[in-house]
Amino acid sequence: MFWVLMMKSSSVQQLILELLQQEHAHFSAHEIYTQLKPRLPSVNPSTVYRALERLTTSGEISVSDMGTGAAVYEMVGSSPHHHLVCQGCHRVITLENKIVQPLFDELEKRFNYQLTTNHLVLFGYCQECSSKKD
Ligand SMILES: [Zn+2]
Ligand SMILES: [Zn+2]
Repeated sequence: MFWVLMMKSSSVQQLILELLQQEHAHFSAHEIYTQLKPRLPSVNPSTVYRALERLTTSGEISVSDMGTGAAVYEMVGSSPHHHLVCQGCHRVITLENKIVQPLFDELEKRFNYQLTTNHLVLFGYCQECSSKKD
């Protein structure tokens, strides 16, 4: 019985990782549950949420607030990146790490600090939305 439960939880984690390995995948816990459901009809939301928690704790995936009302999960992966999120239309722009890296380097040097943030989310208004506001 114990073995069966272990198999079950590890396959849920496996499917979550497969889902998040898609290009630019950023999904909320609810979206992940909805997408796993067809492949694991017997899965319940709390199993998915627990698996997400475990993967986050072990550092395989990261969770961030993208201002959409629900936390969003994604692979940590080998290419750190960051985002600009428009508070008007919620459009998300992905920034390459090299744009932000000089700031991180400067902060680490100046404060003798080892930063572990690998996913920065900055909020603002895109060009379209800011021109509408004027
Ligand atoms: Zn991201
Ligand atoms: Zn906008």
